[in-house]
Amino acid sequence: MTNKTPTLVASRASGGTLPLSHEEGAVPPKGGLSAELSSNQSPQEILLAEPRGFCAGVDRAIEIVERALAKFGAPIYVRHEIVHNTYVVNDLKAKGAIFIEELDDVPPGATLVFSAHGVSKAVQNEARARGFQIFDATCPLVTKVHVEVAKLNKEGYEFIMIGHKGHPEVEGTMGQLDSGIHLVEDVADVARITPSQTERLAVVTQTTLSVDDAAEISAAVKARFPKVREPKQQDICYATQNRQDAVKVLSPQVDILIVVGSPTSSNSNRLRELAAKLGTEAYMVDDASELQESWFEGKSRVGLTAGASAPEILVKQVIDRIKALGAVSVRKMDGIEETIKFPLPKGLKVDAQGHTLEVSDSQLHHLI
Ligand code: SF4
Repeated sequence: MTNKTPTLVASRASGGTLPLSHEEGAVPPKGGLSAELSSNQSPQEILLAEPRGFCAGVDRAIEIVERALAKFGAPIYVRHEIVHNTYVVNDLKAKGAIFIEELDDVPPGATLVFSAHGVSKAVQNEARARGFQIFDATCPLVTKVHVEVAKLNKEGYEFIMIGHKGHPEVEGTMGQLDSGIHLVEDVADVARITPSQTERLAVVTQTTLSVDDAAEISAAVKARFPKVREPKQQDICYATQNRQDAVKVLSPQVDILIVVGSPTSSNSNRLRELAAKLGTEAYMVDDASELQESWFEGKSRVGLTAGASAPEILVKQVIDRIKALGAVSVRKMDGIEETIKFPLPKGLKVDAQGHTLEVSDSQLHHLI
């Protein structure tokens, strides 16, 4: 059996600006074109954010369910939506996946997949005790946070988790311990938490937060607890960071931004919010059918991106719909090329020589 280091070529965006493609010449500033347009002008150009759409963790999670279906046959049970996207979930349902929230709904002897968001220790232990065949599709970058929490807990740390209450990733990370993790959703929450001591406190974050909001909350934590231990590298993942950086560059150059993503998708919501904060009219749609013609009236240049769980087929359908409204060209931004790939779990993936590929804890520390 051979362990193989995952390919890691793309790096976290530096936060600097990414240029738009110059293939079709310089892009006039926002408002430059639209200022000349009449109010019923239809969209002329679509600018595609780069990177957008599927990340390595989502790719892997979907592949785990598909391979489990191929190897063991339907049904395969999946705890929670494998990733937060309606199209993906419906597609897997059609192939024989059954999505459940409670382990009581999984019959004895069944094959169970944990979603990309991760699960608590209690869920892991209960699933094992019930004897299910388990495949863990938790994104390795979420697992990395779990590993860090377990390690620091042994050293006596309490934790401040920056995240959204009720999100499955937050429940999974907080559920790595029985107690000692305090959730903060915003700066105001920082003043409310009551850790039992302040000498050994560490910050962890949900991987799909707004980079800017998380930095603001982290600063408030640091101000109240100066000795707090911050992660060596942010827990916010490369995919979240890169998609937000691309929106920062794209937003000022378009009249409207469309984000393809489901309402439950944290990173998709953050993309829409970010564009709105930057002063760009922005909408999030689950698919092309949700686009409203009135949004595009008087808009010349349309920006388009997709959350990390939204498949490219939905982006293509949105492009076709905007083209039908009048857009004549599609231009792809220059941007970071993401080539990260995560190996599949033992039992579902073999390399060309028949060796199982796995990610070790030490490799996880090098993944962002
Ligand atoms: S968004 Fe980030 S943490 Fe979530 S699955 Fe993708 S790579 Fe992993």
